[in-house]
Amino acid sequence: MSAPKHQAPRGTRDLLPHETARWQWAEAKAREVLERYTYREIRTPMFEDFELFARTSGESSDVVQKEMYRFKDLKGRDLALRPEATAGVCRAYLEHNLAAQGRVHRLWYAGPMFRYGRPQKGRYRQFWQIGAEVIGTAAPGADVEMIALFVDVFEAWGFENLSVAVNSVGTPATRRAYGDALRNWLQPVVHWLSDDSRQRLEANPMRILDSKDPIDRGILAIGEGVGPGIWGAMDDEKQKRLEADLSKLHRKEMPKMVDVLDPESRAHWDQVLGGLEQLGIEHAIDHGLVRGLDYYTRTAFEVHDRSLGAQSALGGGGRYDGLIEALGGPATPGVGFSIGLDRTLLALEDRSPALTPLTFLYVAATEGTRGFVAGFVRALRTVYAVDHDLEGRSLNAQMKAADKAGARLVLILGDDEWKKGEIVIKDLADGTQETVDADDLVDAIDRKLEPPDAAEALEDDE
Ligand code: AMP
Repeated sequence: MSAPKHQAPRGTRDLLPHETARWQWAEAKAREVLERYTYREIRTPMFEDFELFARTSGESSDVVQKEMYRFKDLKGRDLALRPEATAGVCRAYLEHNLAAQGRVHRLWYAGPMFRYGRPQKGRYRQFWQIGAEVIGTAAPGADVEMIALFVDVFEAWGFENLSVAVNSVGTPATRRAYGDALRNWLQPVVHWLSDDSRQRLEANPMRILDSKDPIDRGILAIGEGVGPGIWGAMDDEKQKRLEADLSKLHRKEMPKMVDVLDPESRAHWDQVLGGLEQLGIEHAIDHGLVRGLDYYTRTAFEVHDRSLGAQSALGGGGRYDGLIEALGGPATPGVGFSIGLDRTLLALEDRSPALTPLTFLYVAATEGTRGFVAGFVRALRTVYAVDHDLEGRSLNAQMKAADKAGARLVLILGDDEWKKGEIVIKDLADGTQETVDADDLVDAIDRKLEPPDAAEALEDDE
């Protein structure tokens, strides 16, 4: 077959019916957990003013600089498809003055997000996130609840022995202090850093910790005490020079954010760790964990699944005490997470349960009853899932179609039976057939779908 004329845009995917069943399962599981935690769903638009994202994600962030689907509508409004949902949720919180309805709001959302990245396995231009936010409290207990909820959602999906990476990214002031310390530490190797990282060294040094460049990563690996990483292709001479410069790094430990925290952030961090301990939530402190967006403060967390290779982050979150103020609202703290559903489902490929096939009935008509079938099926569909032939095909063709589609029972509307007010029920599981009075049809179907001993057992249980 030649390639069809139209294909889904690069980086987007169709989820076909055999896949949507798994998605529905995953969404339903997550929703159950979120509701037990008393979070309420919020739905915000898929596009917003570009300015909203520029303001909250930071003009210099990768998302704003390189990954935004930005467009003008017919009136020339500057809009963008949402790359994430927190900015929209906080915009809605302010626009509808939710603060007047209560101090603390627990919210969750799910939906597609859009980022113009390079597509690869687990990385798409349209992808789904499910996430939660607690707006209105700076209490460390909110961070702990958020991480517990995050882990519980993964556990509901069947992930086991998850360990969450946690860090504190301090406040803007402590980040500046940290930036100076990091700049200082990197001094001997500055000329080896990637162009991007050299730029970050000026504007936002903490972001260097997030670099994907192999030399940058190798340098940071020394700081993290795991030795130099893989440098990629490099001639011997160059490698020697690099190693000589790197040896200077060993003399001083790489600065850690948690060592330069202001006293309040330090106390907050200690309480978050204490809370995780108390709940028995597995966690590891990752000093290199930074979040890609500027509005994060204090707690940051992430969970990875190694089976996914490069795109291993399944979800992450953190505190964003500066965000609502950046949108022009009163200073309002918040903490949240978001989980990538595409990646989660990839990681769950072998682990999500086999889906039970839909139990449905098939109504087959004959020459004389064809005119009644649509009405009969419509009435039956108020109770059961029902399929039928739309094309007036022969009884034989209808029986074959019912079998192929995997129907459980076929109701045959025979001419003679129909006149007598009777219907034939054929059980495709064992081939048996029975003629019942139309008035007893529902009972007869229920008896077939749920054999009497099972029904009795249920009653005995009560
Ligand atoms: P972030 O909003 O960047 O913290 O991302 C949260 C989660 O969304 C990540 O851990 C991923 O699971 C998922 N995610 C982010 N970007 C993409 C993408 N381009 N394609 C698929 N999933 C993504």
